[in-house]
Amino acid sequence: MEKSKERIQQIKKKRPGYGEILDFYQKVIEAQDKAKASLKIDPVLLKKEWKELLAKEGFSLIQKEDFPLDIEASVKLFQALCQIGKEANPHMAEQVRKIKEAHDNKKIDLKNLLKEGVKEQKIERVADEFGLDIKVFSFLIQSSIKPSIEAGMEQLHSELDPETWLKGYCTVCGSLPFLSLLKEETGKRYLLCSYCGYQWRIDRLFCPFCDNREQESLHYLFAEGEEAYRIDLCDKCHQHIKTIDFRIIGESDPSLEDLATLHLDILASQKGYKRPIPNPWVT
Ligand SMILES: [Zn+2]
Ligand SMILES: [Zn+2]
Repeated sequence: MEKSKERIQQIKKKRPGYGEILDFYQKVIEAQDKAKASLKIDPVLLKKEWKELLAKEGFSLIQKEDFPLDIEASVKLFQALCQIGKEANPHMAEQVRKIKEAHDNKKIDLKNLLKEGVKEQKIERVADEFGLDIKVFSFLIQSSIKPSIEAGMEQLHSELDPETWLKGYCTVCGSLPFLSLLKEETGKRYLLCSYCGYQWRIDRLFCPFCDNREQESLHYLFAEGEEAYRIDLCDKCHQHIKTIDFRIIGESDPSLEDLATLHLDILASQKGYKRPIPNPWVT
């Protein structure tokens, strides 16, 4: 946490335009960190023979809905995040007011909602019913269950070899990656799961969204002076993924680095490339 705070200060100095959003982000991760400290998560049970069969057939270990959640802790975190949102800006404050009103009138059952947070359609339906901004609402829900999901992933971590999966989707939960990372001196490339945070190795020349490995249709762009961040573009599926080079900036919180470079996502989008798992901060 201290390292993240330091990094936030560094980025704020370099890119003052991100100041407000970074302050908000810091409060969010502090609340998540606090929740993580007292989390109670049931063990994820896996049969050895299932594990082997799934791996052989190229299936992920579990499904998104199989992650055990600490619902009490998630509800508490949701409320803490609502409070942070209320103080962040008028738009968030208005969203929180609407959520609180629906909750006070017993029209929203928080426990149930967080349990079903994985079902995007359900979240969309509730947002629609109460006139909520879907991006804000699903951000609050996803951020509230995140400590539980990550704790579940950490349990399964030892069951897997991150160096040998080499596919475009997560070996733990089957979700798509939201970032790619370059690490170690040789620049080994890893993908980072958008749902559970697992990291696994892939080839340097590879589009995780369409399995393209052809050099002619894979290229990248970056901004002058920001060589640690590049946007990998695929001309086959016209999608992109952001790659963060930890060899240049050192190990850091990938979500923070993603947030602080959303100008690159906007650039890629202007060029006609889609990001399958959007940067949550692009409005
Ligand atoms: Zn995953
Ligand atoms: Zn592609």
